[in-house]
Amino acid sequence: MPRRAEPALVYSAAAIFAAAGVVGAIESLLPEGPEFSPAAGLSALAIAALLTLFGRRLPRWVVYAFGPVGAALVALAVATTRGYSDAAIIYCWPVIWVASFYGTRATVAIVAWVGIVHGVALAAMPDGMASADRWADVVVSVSVVAVVVRVLAARNERLVAQLSTEARVDPLTGLWNRRAFGERLDTESARAVREGTSLAVVMFDIDHFKRINDVHGHDVGDRVLKWVAETLMRETRGADITARVGGEEFLVVLPGTGVEGACEFAERVRAAIAGGGGPVELTISAGVAAGTVKTAEHGLVDAADRALYAAKRGGRNAVRVTPVEVGRSFSAPP
Ligand code: GH3
Ligand code: MG
Ligand code: MG
Repeated sequence: MPRRAEPALVYSAAAIFAAAGVVGAIESLLPEGPEFSPAAGLSALAIAALLTLFGRRLPRWVVYAFGPVGAALVALAVATTRGYSDAAIIYCWPVIWVASFYGTRATVAIVAWVGIVHGVALAAMPDGMASADRWADVVVSVSVVAVVVRVLAARNERLVAQLSTEARVDPLTGLWNRRAFGERLDTESARAVREGTSLAVVMFDIDHFKRINDVHGHDVGDRVLKWVAETLMRETRGADITARVGGEEFLVVLPGTGVEGACEFAERVRAAIAGGGGPVELTISAGVAAGTVKTAEHGLVDAADRALYAAKRGGRNAVRVTPVEVGRSFSAPP
């Protein structure tokens, strides 16, 4: 489905057309101004009204067309003005709008389009009024405006993307954080329900982590967290979602995985951690929940949490499945 036009895009375009229409109306009322056709101003007002009423329903790429349409109306105003006019300054409006909301190629296209329509407008003027100099002034000016606005807009887009990633990544381990986990789980749950596939959630919690901190210090505790994260990343596949959701708690979503596969995964991780090779000796417990869920996604996380609690109560260094969810339990060999 094509991406719908966002409100800022539509309403800024409507406001620009309305402003152009109002400028045209005011100028036609001024007694001393040059004569020009009211067609451009009236069209601009009509487009402003239509965009306000229906613009939000249009795909984004269709709304782009209002940039070239706006530039063509400016050209019409320039061509129909009898006498000297500054109307060409208004070419900047659609150029700024396109450079702010669309990419570099769209910006190059609108600048080229201004070059074309302004050339046509000048060519349509009576002899003596048009000149290459008038054309070059306009095209060079809108090019400068386009470059400046596009560079600033691209910088903004990069910053927003960077902040959005940083808001979702745990700085210590590089895994997703709880916020990102919730978003990803929502998406995967919806897909699992839609496609009737299984979804598994595994919750891990390091055993006696407080003791590791107390005995070895927080720096070692942090290194343990990183090592556990690396182990999880090694054992997961590309489609899996791995997050650090609390101090020493990790959640993994395994799309398209049933209870057997999820238990095998959890057991692999448990064994890898218990097998050593990290900053200190440690163990981890895991709770598994899986199914072709109609239940809300939080049902799966809660079920995994209950299974984890059972693993802790049973002595830790173990994998458990929530019995209510799948009627089966799985534990590490003694
Ligand atoms: P259990 O086996 O029952 O899970 O016991 P536990 O000690 O692992 O659990 P508890 O919840 O009592 O302790 C968790 C500890 O994790 C307490 C807290 O100081 C520590 N912690 C939380 N976040 C961080 C962190 O970012 N770095 C370090 N080093 N420690 C952290
Ligand atoms: Mg804990
Ligand atoms: Mg713990």
